[in-house]
Amino acid sequence: MMKPKILISKCIEHCQCRYDGTMIKSDFVQMLKPFVEFITVCPEVEMGLSIPRQSLRLIYHEGNIQLIESIDGQDHTEKMNAFIRDFPLEQLNIHGSILKNRSPSCGISSVKTYSSHGKVPALAFKSVGMFARALQNHYEDLPIEDEGRLSNYVIRDHFLTSIFTLARFNPLNHHELVEFHSQNKYLLMAYHQKNQKIMGRIVANHENLSFEAVKKTYYIYLKGVFLEPVHPGKNENVILHMFGYFSQQLSIEERNFYLEQIKLYRQHKLPFPALMAMMYSWIIRFDVEYLKQQTIFEPYPKEILNLRDSGKERI
Ligand code: SF4
Repeated sequence: MMKPKILISKCIEHCQCRYDGTMIKSDFVQMLKPFVEFITVCPEVEMGLSIPRQSLRLIYHEGNIQLIESIDGQDHTEKMNAFIRDFPLEQLNIHGSILKNRSPSCGISSVKTYSSHGKVPALAFKSVGMFARALQNHYEDLPIEDEGRLSNYVIRDHFLTSIFTLARFNPLNHHELVEFHSQNKYLLMAYHQKNQKIMGRIVANHENLSFEAVKKTYYIYLKGVFLEPVHPGKNENVILHMFGYFSQQLSIEERNFYLEQIKLYRQHKLPFPALMAMMYSWIIRFDVEYLKQQTIFEPYPKEILNLRDSGKERI
């Protein structure tokens, strides 16, 4: 499997480059290391600041956001803008990004914003870090998360599913594109049934477009599939579709038991992977080859599946 390319804030498990010379520990990032290709960036150090240094903050001044030193108020806005201008965003070819939360440079949301330097209370609204905003603007259709939000199981599962599916997409010819679409059928259906149907028509290529043109259009829709997290109701729809493959071969007790489990899932009393594991045992028993190949059963390596949920962050 091709490894997803992920741009990551360098201070997360890669370097002691925070303003106070520390590094952020992250079990999740440690676990990901063998499975993804990390590209690191520390905008503050790479634009010329030292380690350690004074902490920075965002201030709102006459309708603009500026990046200044928290105590002395020295303005680094232009330096950061120049760094962003020179940063090779175009050439990164990433599948997603993990940034440090709440940082005035890297935070993707909830960054405290002030009226000035010094001892003043934070303003009522929060902002986005300067580098994070540039990244979000450039890669508006890619998954960009912060390490805080990724402690939430639903957000993490969505992020991992997105980056590994995007990384898997590398068809070399029309046959491989058809295969990709077929193996991802239920995953795409769960996330975005409308796009899944459109993508089917793109693969059918009734207009006889070149393979490269078809591949490019397909990838745009693939990225669109993951813009929103999967809704439990859509998961249920997909489960019922797959259940139809062998429900007639099951006993009435088995059928009723499974329908009861689906109900529990709907009521948030059973996790989706438990429902899928039961389903997969029948796929093996009845040897349904088409379903065995479906990526929805393992959208990312099982070594990084972890149901732990901080419950802190919400989508
Ligand atoms: S949050 Fe971003 S700018 Fe700050 S230390 Fe980490 S990588 Fe560097």
